[in-house]
Amino acid sequence: MTSHPRDTALRVRAARSPRGSSSSRPACAAPHARGAFPALIGLLRCQSEWRAGRGAQPGQSRGRPQRPHRAAGAGPGGGTGDAGTDRGTGAAMAAPWRDVVRDAAAVREAAAVAVDAALLAGVLMRTGEQPHASDVVNYAPFTLLPSAVPRALFEQAYAVQQDFNLLVDAISQNKEFLEQTLASTIKVDDFTAQLFRIYMQVLEEGLAQTVFLGINRSDYMFDCGLDGTAALRQIEINTIAASFGGLTSRTADVHGLVLKVLGKTEEASHLLPNNPAKGLALGIAKAWELYGSQRAVVMFLVEEIQRNIFDQRCVENELWSRNIRVIRKRFRDVFEQGSLDASRRLYMDGQEVAVVYYREGYVPQNYDQQNWEARLLLERSRAVKCPDIATQLAGTKKVQQELSRPGTLEKLLPGRPEAIARMRATFAGLYSLDEGEEGDMIAATAIADPDRFVLKPQREGGGNNLYGEELRQVLEKIKDSPERTSYILMDKIKPQPALNYLLRAHSPLQVSECISELGIFGVYVRQGQELVLNQAAGHLLRTKAIEHADGGVAAGVAVLDTPYLV
Ligand code: ADP
Ligand code: MG
Repeated sequence: MTSHPRDTALRVRAARSPRGSSSSRPACAAPHARGAFPALIGLLRCQSEWRAGRGAQPGQSRGRPQRPHRAAGAGPGGGTGDAGTDRGTGAAMAAPWRDVVRDAAAVREAAAVAVDAALLAGVLMRTGEQPHASDVVNYAPFTLLPSAVPRALFEQAYAVQQDFNLLVDAISQNKEFLEQTLASTIKVDDFTAQLFRIYMQVLEEGLAQTVFLGINRSDYMFDCGLDGTAALRQIEINTIAASFGGLTSRTADVHGLVLKVLGKTEEASHLLPNNPAKGLALGIAKAWELYGSQRAVVMFLVEEIQRNIFDQRCVENELWSRNIRVIRKRFRDVFEQGSLDASRRLYMDGQEVAVVYYREGYVPQNYDQQNWEARLLLERSRAVKCPDIATQLAGTKKVQQELSRPGTLEKLLPGRPEAIARMRATFAGLYSLDEGEEGDMIAATAIADPDRFVLKPQREGGGNNLYGEELRQVLEKIKDSPERTSYILMDKIKPQPALNYLLRAHSPLQVSECISELGIFGVYVRQGQELVLNQAAGHLLRTKAIEHADGGVAAGVAVLDTPYLV
């Protein structure tokens, strides 16, 4: 099978659950977000009853209040159901740019400048037609305009990142928790089971690795609540191969130029600098240094098809600039060239490896028998794995769901009530589908009202979740079988859309109603029991048209963006 990982493939999953007439939605405001831009206050006006029942299909909204039918003019801008018109809340949604978003000539001119700026800045991807070639490349998809992000929520996401780093690190060291939490999942999910087998095998042998490096990205959406305020809600934490830290280090400059072309020089000066590539490289460099061998290299473990190579090169080049050697290898290279010495130092064709940075290895398609053997070799080695297999398991959806149970965080991080409160404040409702009464009840609720939920298997990389009618059908089918336990349920987050243009090679320039997902990169390094580095390392904003329920940039759905704080 070809791989379609987070890093490479262009896979578009069509919308599963069409939303209601979204253009008649009023805007959703963030708490405390109004002071800096008084002119926006009117546009950020919220109407508390709006959220109720939105997006629900007729007859599906049991247990939730129905959204009142609003006549044109009742909401800000007077929505008409004509998606994307200026009379809808489009104006409010694209609040900062409402004067230009519909100016066709200005938009065309800005888009031409934007594409060239992206190419010049190196916001690049290899093409689907020639995925192995770097001599024919194109720009990675991105928004024309930076998207409005409530400042308070942006700051909240940064403020909680070190807590999540601590938490992931604690889970990775807690065998009992991982064992208990994943017990039901590994009975039915072969991929998680295989990862778990390697985890146990490595523990039984005893860890050779003494330095630990975590690079994760905690992703959020801005949920528009019943009271009309937006809340930060965590979608997931990616503990392996969290991508786009490289390319997004270059998008703020592109958007700054676009704003200037559109006559918004003042606003351009407010875009935040952002350099995750440097932050990630700092973590890798620290781990390399603590490993303690000048001759040893950093190995990027990469896919067979490397469309997102430029994103990785951004991090690589930061390492080279610190005079750290980087090599790029695939699992099959490890199978053929990898070996361990008596003290389990890892060598690739005679070259010692200090750090293995996985940009591959998180979906079943990445593995055949040889690749599993290669993975085991790497895990048994003394090299710093980013992540080690325990940390990969800590990022499973099942673990995320268990974290939301009352008392779990307290057990994992005793004596840290403030960190726990900060993390918990970002959690959405998460539900176990394990066999038993609790699982039966939530399965029945979701079948009755599927638009309230997202059904998630233990998979990464986008395009795996189920929504709406498909969720209902699948759950109906598996509700009485053990297969149910390979999924979790999550409350569906419903952000306020905004108008933007998604710039993609070979695609027409057209306005779309969009929603955004904010990711914060976290980096930490532990030596033995001592945490020697724990930082937030920058952010990633991805934006997609609301027709797509699922999927990230690599899946061909979302595009790169830059937050404009309001
Ligand atoms: P993956 O590991 O495949 O990236 P995610 O949990 O991040 O899985 O889900 C993929 C995408 O689906 C997200 O980027 C987001 O667009 C959408 N999504 C996931 N969870 C939710 C949710 N609870 N509410 C709304 N959309 C969601
Ligand atoms: Mg995701």
